[in-house]
Amino acid sequence: MKMIPIIGLEIHVQLNTKSKMFCSCANVDDGAPPNTAICPICTGQPGALPALNAEALKKGVLAGMALGCNIPNTSAFDRKNYFYPDLPKGYQISQFGLPVALGGSLTIEIPEDALPNREFARIGITRAHLEEDAAKNFHAPEGIEGKPATLVDYNRSSTPLLEIVTEPDFRSPAEAKYFLQELRAIMRAIKVSNADMEKGQMRCDVNISMLEVDDEGFPTKSTLNPRTEVKNLNSFRAVERAIAYETQRQSALYASMTPPVEATRGWDDSQGKTIEQRTKESSADYRYFPEPDLPPQDLREIREELKNRLPELPAQTRLRLEQEYGFSKANASFFVANEGYVEYVEQIMSELAGWIEASDDKIESGAEALANKKETFAKLVGGWLTSKLAGLLAEKNLTIKDANINPENFAEFIHLLEQKAVNSMNGQRLLQLMHESGGDPSNLMETHNLGQNMDDGDLEMIVKRNLEANPEKATEVKNGKMPLIKWFVGIVMRDTEGKADPMKVETEIRKQLDV
Ligand code: ADP
Ligand code: MG
Ligand code: ZN
Repeated sequence: MKMIPIIGLEIHVQLNTKSKMFCSCANVDDGAPPNTAICPICTGQPGALPALNAEALKKGVLAGMALGCNIPNTSAFDRKNYFYPDLPKGYQISQFGLPVALGGSLTIEIPEDALPNREFARIGITRAHLEEDAAKNFHAPEGIEGKPATLVDYNRSSTPLLEIVTEPDFRSPAEAKYFLQELRAIMRAIKVSNADMEKGQMRCDVNISMLEVDDEGFPTKSTLNPRTEVKNLNSFRAVERAIAYETQRQSALYASMTPPVEATRGWDDSQGKTIEQRTKESSADYRYFPEPDLPPQDLREIREELKNRLPELPAQTRLRLEQEYGFSKANASFFVANEGYVEYVEQIMSELAGWIEASDDKIESGAEALANKKETFAKLVGGWLTSKLAGLLAEKNLTIKDANINPENFAEFIHLLEQKAVNSMNGQRLLQLMHESGGDPSNLMETHNLGQNMDDGDLEMIVKRNLEANPEKATEVKNGKMPLIKWFVGIVMRDTEGKADPMKVETEIRKQLDV
């Protein structure tokens, strides 16, 4: 019998609020010295009273809206009871019955090489709720004074989290990865979190079960099988590997007639496998009850306020970059996925629009020429930015925000290429110089003699010399072996040290050979 994996995710996103969830302590990151951002509230001292951080509530609602969720009129907090040394109150303040967001969805595009190859995957968002994070335990490896010891840093205790729960709509490890990458892009676009998995700003639990399907791929029954939950994965790669591993492990169990049981498992990255931690707890185990120290929140006003302030989301930005400027899908995705590029590229394109406006051929040849020019610019900008400049920045571990080249100079550089004032070989050299000095491209082109300023008479002579030096090849071209022309263009270009325009070179070769 054929079985397919059924996957649902629970994602914790750290909200980037100034202060913690229920007190005025700073919401610091891991770099802060241990236990320096704490107070009686976030360390759970008896009698301390929580007060809700309004910024966290707003950011939770905004994230819910970005995921297409309904924002209910009222939301409330509950106590989730369990005992653990990193949970000083003995319970976590979370949301159970009345979360801030319900019933949304996110549709992601799946690249062709991912299996099963469905072009789009629509992932239902069950809910998103606010809760406080736990503190952090450190197991002292050598112990303290000879005794085994665990140290607790309460800086993270009670910092705000948004937990996003999806429907079991994923069908492969790749789908989970693309979803998480898109989720990260959304959290960044709406500025509620940097959602960096490596820094623990986004953490993921994966739930996996296997389902019997018929030859057409349709389920043979209407209920799902028992799942396992793999906790706290902190990289895209770990998520993919854990799902692949569980799929195999569970398939093998079905094959040997000992089906898997519901359980919570951990991921051992170095061994590349999941390990059973405990049988799965159910919500009844947590004895949820309404948090008596926090009144229910009326969300109607926030909902109205934020409705018209939802920023452009990554999918919309990609579409706009394609439609407005003519960028390829791959370039648009690159700009959206890498911080700082969208702003940078939009400034370049607005500079270039100025050049287009000012150019004479617009008046002569109308809308079509204008569209062509736009397309040429988009190709040049896309190529030179995503492969060449991004490469130079990566070598020095810099982001586009630290680039020495400002968008105005980059636009001028593209304009020089488009005007064929510099060819692409010398263009690389010019870009390198701009990258190093931050200088203006026209000046650098002149001082380093990189322009295409070859005199027509000189070009004629150089072509002649090269044709005479290679008489057999010249005859072959005359006899119709056209691809050889490119070889001649190459050697002439080298001879001119890149100062000639390759198109002009080819024209001159054809003229002299009469082909
Ligand atoms: P919890 O894990 O806290 O008990 P839920 O029961 O609501 O919470 O499930 C959480 C996640 O598990 C959701 O993402 C859901 O889609 C997924 N899930 C639930 N049942 C299954 C199943 N049989 N197979 C795969 N995923 C499942
Ligand atoms: Mg769970
Ligand atoms: Zn505090």
